[in-house]
Amino acid sequence: MLTLHCPHCGVQADETELTNGGQAHLKRFGPGSSDAEFEAYMFARANPKGVHFERWRHSYGCGKWFIAARCTATLEVFGTYPAQTTEPPAHIIDTIKDRRPDWEGRE
Ligand SMILES: [Zn+2]
Repeated sequence: MLTLHCPHCGVQADETELTNGGQAHLKRFGPGSSDAEFEAYMFARANPKGVHFERWRHSYGCGKWFIAARCTATLEVFGTYPAQTTEPPAHIIDTIKDRRPDWEGRE
């Protein structure tokens, strides 16, 4: 079972307390963007086997959103941080690179 640490209330929550919100750090293009850019924002999502950044909501806890960096194949969690963060914190990136030296960065 997947267990994630909520960075807001500090609870170690299992997946039955959480709601998945899909891929994190999506870039929304503004006015004047192309149809292809808007289509990619609306529909194209990464589905990696390995390191992935996902939005999660602590639905049956504090109700707040956060982002988890985890491995989709092993459920190994590299860290969690508040959803208001626009880029993964440096300590999360360092943790991933320490454990997965062949990781090439975010999708
Ligand atoms: Zn919480």
